[in-house]
Amino acid sequence: MTTELLGLTPEELQTELSPLGEKPFRAKQIFSWLQRGMRFSEMSNLPLALREKLASLYVDQPVEILERHVSQMDGTVKLLYALRDQNCVEGVVMRYHYGVTLCLSTQVGCAMGCAFCASTLDGCVRSLTAAEMLGQVMCADRMLAESGERVSHIVLMGSGEPLQNYDNVVRFLRLVSHPEGKNIGLRHISLSTCGLPAQIRRLADEGLPVTLSLSLHAPNDRIRQRLMPVAKRYTIEETLDACRYYLKKIGRRIILEYALIDKVNADQAHALELARLLRGMQCHVNLIPLNTVRERNLFGVTEGQVTSFLNTLTAQHISATRRREMGDDIQGACGQLRQKHLKEQTT
Ligand code: SAH
Repeated sequence: MTTELLGLTPEELQTELSPLGEKPFRAKQIFSWLQRGMRFSEMSNLPLALREKLASLYVDQPVEILERHVSQMDGTVKLLYALRDQNCVEGVVMRYHYGVTLCLSTQVGCAMGCAFCASTLDGCVRSLTAAEMLGQVMCADRMLAESGERVSHIVLMGSGEPLQNYDNVVRFLRLVSHPEGKNIGLRHISLSTCGLPAQIRRLADEGLPVTLSLSLHAPNDRIRQRLMPVAKRYTIEETLDACRYYLKKIGRRIILEYALIDKVNADQAHALELARLLRGMQCHVNLIPLNTVRERNLFGVTEGQVTSFLNTLTAQHISATRRREMGDDIQGACGQLRQKHLKEQTT
């Protein structure tokens, strides 16, 4: 596959381009153009011959927007991106009072097999490169520029398990926060994982101050094993231990994602059990009413159920909020849009 220059650091770019006989400052110029989402043909301070040469040898922007769906409810935009090998992934642009958050995918599909998640229905096709993750940011920013906005926050919560694509994700984090690139602060980035303890510890040792979100979804191993195959490999206790290590190293409280699923994990008894499990841990629980996925037999909960679960946690002194559901009218849940697209292609 042709090298995607977008995934290289300025130093790597210089090494890559040195056989072309260009001066070192060109690599810096090209880095800065690429990281602003530009194509070779738009790099106006490069000689035309060099732009053409680059275009014949390399890929500039490896991702394009295939479909845009704008929510009439809250301005959320759901994007379907095309990759160069015909695969597609999805993303969501969410507008909050503090800025614009982009939800990024890290793999085409997902191998983790969570029972409630549409991304994993056909397994994992492949991991994304760092350039393809950056490409999603470039696409979203180009679109947002039309309304004078830009991506200020990123959540790695689209399709894929980021810690199963560890090296590319870490490379992406370093590049997207590069001062001469998008310069998005690592403190504005959250990484969500189903919970791979060894990789959580490894990430803690990288010293990148991203917020860690753990998809917990259950107050005990029995319920978690029913929902998430990963729970059969690692207990909640060893996963939370890795989170505590992360907290100690990085100093940022852990976010625990908890999707409320009717008749599975959403009763008062579950809330009390969850509070006992988390007592004394510096964390925050994010309650999400499950986005019902037609393909699975699991259902969301009512407003009232969310409120009483939340109240129980709060009464037990566990910090918790409910996550706003956004873009419910535009296949907002993880993996739903790609599933719809795949179905439309085969019918
Ligand atoms: N693999 C990572 C990140 C992708 S999933 C992880 O497991 O965290 C992003 C978040 O969306 C996770 O918390 C996941 O559990 C949640 N999610 C998936 N399907 C959902 C659904 N139908 N309703 C609500 N949340 C869902």
